[in-house]
Amino acid sequence: MLIYFFVIMLLKNSLLFVSVFFLINIHVCGQQKTENVILITLDGLRWQELFQGADPDIIGRKKDVDDVKETRARFWDNDPKVRRSMLFPFIWSTIAVEGQIYGNRELGNKVNVINRYWFSYPGYNELLTGASDKRIRSNARIRNPNQTILEFVNKQNDFKDKVAAFASWDVFHYIINSRAGIHINAGNDTVRSQRLSQREAYLNHLQQSSPSPWKATRFDKFTHQYALDYLKKNSPKLMLIAYGETDEFAHMGKYDAYLESARNTDEFIREIWNYVQTDETYRDKTTLIITTDHGRGAGKRSWKSHGIGRSGSNHTWIMVLGPDSQALGEVKDKQIYYNSQLARTIAAFLNLNFRDSSTAGDAIATALAR
Ligand SMILES: [Zn+2]
Repeated sequence: MLIYFFVIMLLKNSLLFVSVFFLINIHVCGQQKTENVILITLDGLRWQELFQGADPDIIGRKKDVDDVKETRARFWDNDPKVRRSMLFPFIWSTIAVEGQIYGNRELGNKVNVINRYWFSYPGYNELLTGASDKRIRSNARIRNPNQTILEFVNKQNDFKDKVAAFASWDVFHYIINSRAGIHINAGNDTVRSQRLSQREAYLNHLQQSSPSPWKATRFDKFTHQYALDYLKKNSPKLMLIAYGETDEFAHMGKYDAYLESARNTDEFIREIWNYVQTDETYRDKTTLIITTDHGRGAGKRSWKSHGIGRSGSNHTWIMVLGPDSQALGEVKDKQIYYNSQLARTIAAFLNLNFRDSSTAGDAIATALAR
C-alpha cells in the first residue's frame, strides 16, 4: 500500500515536472514576431546617468566640466526624472513607454555582469557568448576562442551572411573573431567596395581626415553612419552596433563630453528605430536590445574609472524595444538580471536555441513574447 502510494506520488511529481518544464520551454522558445535583432551597446555608460541624468556631484566640478554654466543649461534640472529626459529624450519618451528598461537600482531592479573583471573585453565576451571566461581577462588583441551569438546565428539556415557588426573600438575584430565569417567594420575601417557610392566615398574621406583623439576608437558618428548605411543596403537580421565614446570621454575625465556623447547616442538610437519602423523589411518585426559592457565607480573621483577596484563597475542596465516585449516601461520589480542572459535572449527572439555553452545565462523571459 505504502509502495503504491509512493509510486503514485512519484508519477504525479514527474508529471508536474514534465508539464512545468514544457511550459517554461514554450514560454522561452515560443514563436516570436521578431525576425531581426539590433544589439546596441554604449561603452561604460553608468546606470546613474541613465536613470537619474547628470550627476549632481560631478556636473558642477570645474576639473571635470569645461563650461559648467553651459553644461548645466543643457543637462541640469533639480528633478532627476526631468534630468534623465534631457539627457536621453528618445529613451525616456519612447522606450520607457513602449519598451522595457531594467537596472534602476534605486528601485531594487538590478542588472550586473557576472564576470569578475569589470572592463570591456570580458564584458563584451560575456554579453556575446553568454558566459564569463577566465582566459579573457585583459583588453589585449587576442582572438576570442569562444563562439559569439553573432557567429552562431550566422551559421543557422536563413541567417547566413545576414549578420554584421559595427564598432567604434577596433578590438571588436578580435572579440568577434574573423573566423566568425561575418561582416565587421570596427576602429578605423572604411567601406571597401569596388564601386563606392558618392556618400560612402565622402564618409570614408571624412573619417580618414578627422583623426580621433584615441588610438583604438573612432568617433561614434562614423560607426553610426556606416551602420545605418549597411542596414539600409543589406538588411541584416542580426546586427551589433557598439558605440565607444562614453567610455573614452569618461576615462579622460571630461564629464561634459561624456554627457554630450550620451545625448548623441540617444539620437542615434532614435534614428535607427525610426528607420526600422518605416521600412517594410523591418517594421514590427525588429527588436532593439540596448546595454553596456560594464559600469563605473561612483562619486567625484571614481566615476572616471572602472574595474575590480572601483565598486559599482559591475552594475549595468538593459533596454528592450520590439513587437514581442510587453510595454513594462521602467521595470520596478526587485530582481536581478545579468548581461550573460542576453546571448540566449537574442537567440530566443530569433526563434533559435543558443546552446553553445552550458554556463550561458538563461534567456530573459519577461522580454520575450508569452
Ligand atoms: Zn568598456
